[in-house]
Amino acid sequence: MTEPDPAAPATAGLFDSPLAQAVSAAGIGLWELDLASGREWWSDTTLALYGLPPGSPAPRREAWREHFVHPDDLARQMATAAESERTGRPYECEFRIRRADTGAVRRLISRSAVTLAASHRVLGITLDVTDRHEAERRAVTAEAQLGHAARQVGFGFGTREPDDEGGEWSPELKRLWGLPADAPTPRRGEIFEHIVPADRERVRQRLYTPIEPGALAEYSFEVRRADDGRCRTLTTRAYTEYDAAGRRGRTYFAVIDTTELLQRERELADLQELQRLAAEAAGLGLWELDLRSGQHRWDERTRALFDLTPGDPPFERHEFLSRLHPDDRARMVEAVAAADARGEPIDIEYRVSRRDGGWRWLRARGRVLAGADGRPWRSVGVCFETTALRQAEAERHARELAENANAAKTEFLSRMSHELRTPLNAVLGFAQLMALDSADPLSSAQRERLQHVQAAGWHLLALVNDVLDLARIESRNAPMQPEAVALGAAVTECIAMTAPRSAEAGVAVHWDSPEAAPHAVWADPVRLRQLLLNLVSNGVKYNRRGGWVRVGARRRGAQAVVSVRDNGLGIARARLPHLFQPFDRAGRENSGIEGTGLGLALVKLLVEQMGGAVEVDSTEGEGSEFRLVLPLPPADGVPRPLE
Ligand code: ADP
Repeated sequence: MTEPDPAAPATAGLFDSPLAQAVSAAGIGLWELDLASGREWWSDTTLALYGLPPGSPAPRREAWREHFVHPDDLARQMATAAESERTGRPYECEFRIRRADTGAVRRLISRSAVTLAASHRVLGITLDVTDRHEAERRAVTAEAQLGHAARQVGFGFGTREPDDEGGEWSPELKRLWGLPADAPTPRRGEIFEHIVPADRERVRQRLYTPIEPGALAEYSFEVRRADDGRCRTLTTRAYTEYDAAGRRGRTYFAVIDTTELLQRERELADLQELQRLAAEAAGLGLWELDLRSGQHRWDERTRALFDLTPGDPPFERHEFLSRLHPDDRARMVEAVAAADARGEPIDIEYRVSRRDGGWRWLRARGRVLAGADGRPWRSVGVCFETTALRQAEAERHARELAENANAAKTEFLSRMSHELRTPLNAVLGFAQLMALDSADPLSSAQRERLQHVQAAGWHLLALVNDVLDLARIESRNAPMQPEAVALGAAVTECIAMTAPRSAEAGVAVHWDSPEAAPHAVWADPVRLRQLLLNLVSNGVKYNRRGGWVRVGARRRGAQAVVSVRDNGLGIARARLPHLFQPFDRAGRENSGIEGTGLGLALVKLLVEQMGGAVEVDSTEGEGSEFRLVLPLPPADGVPRPLE
């Protein structure tokens, strides 16, 4: 989005138009006043009348009054301006000024010509009348009053007598209607044929409705010019004189061709609307800070970002600062000061307190605009909320930290496990040698103790192996190589491997394979055996003599479910949520049943890395069911990517 350039007059085009050039040639200056801000723009001719170089900014009203207007004329000028503002009548004032270059006193006339309602701007003219003949200046007819200037600018003037019959149009007014300058002044009833049909009735009503004392009639309409047939928009302003007794007198009216002006005004209004919509869509609030008075001007969106409701008064500077996060205040003052001193753009992110107690991140961007004297006088810009962005950034940072910490932990674990295994293997190896050494046999007490050393050693080795495995899988250093694995073969292999243990424990293990069971699953064959072995040996371990473990399989949609059921000890409901966490033994730490608490953590990691999931149902004292949910092999033989 391009920012509107507040330094450009709405009528920039007009200042450069052929009309303006003609006007300039006649020594008539144009000016434009923004009623809302009091800001003014002067054409080069206006600047020249004041002895100022072309292209310089127009002085502010107050500076203008102080430095240019003759002190004796000041009160009258101010009264005239105030009167025109109050009544809405055109402003016209004659006053003396002192030129900036030569210091000479000159007499100027300044007059407002057209009000651009949509942009709250007034366009006017200024001309130097120092050398004009006193008598001419004081002449009483409308034509003479407005004189030479009006003709040059293309303003038409006219009068209408109360009886409707008399009246006088200036030559320029006739030209505006496309009539020859020396044509007779048309009667009121004769002008309608030149007005486009759509506007006729409206103009008729305005024309035949008397203008109240003190009121100003202003309206626009379209005419088809008598000479070239072109359609032009004319804007007329009229007021009627009344005598002391209240009798209606002459009506004076001024007319200007506003075709291009209105077009520009419409475009400007469209543009403003477009910018408003764009700002709204982008959540952009507008702000303005008067650097001299410290006053803020905010639009509704900026106010909403500060939790101000429409009724709340705007913030003073110190209130604004008090709403900022303490850590951001100094930065804000610095940013504005830097922009102020060196004209640097403002771009700052800061926190403001929210009504609900939290902080809201805002980003403000803007720039400093210089006043007529070249010194910075206000900064303007936009602001928008960045809380969500900031949060996302903070989360990403936290995630990165956690990932780094996790990677470091994995790295540490795998190194440690490796370092532990070497001496442990030595311990187990020598223990075995001692047990088997027939040349130097152990006593039966020593043999028993050695068995404890060996059991503890094997337990430690299993633990270290599991930790290493877990770390490798977690860091994805052990990639899965899935393929179609025949389920029946894998299960029976596992059952065979656990047979010595299950026989010892007195637990029967079965493979139930109903007809509809899937023949194969999509899995890494080695890891699948590890999964099944873990679940089956748990079913045996956490069981009673005479108990059973049943392995089964079925389809669930496009997946296979392999279940390992037992009628063993079961798991307390409260333990289930943590069951798959490493080292969690679900309360069986002191049960005498050997284990590390890593088996189920491995199961979960492995099955998930194969694109599957693990589920559990268990009732304490009755038994458990663990289910592996795994993808089925792709029917067409094309491997599916892992999720
Ligand atoms: P480990 O068996 O080495 O302790 P696991 O991770 O395999 O570790 O299991 C964690 C805990 O879950 C076990 O200590 C046990 O309390 C419980 N558990 C696992 N499988 C079963 C089961 N089939 N029946 C009852 N409890 C079980």
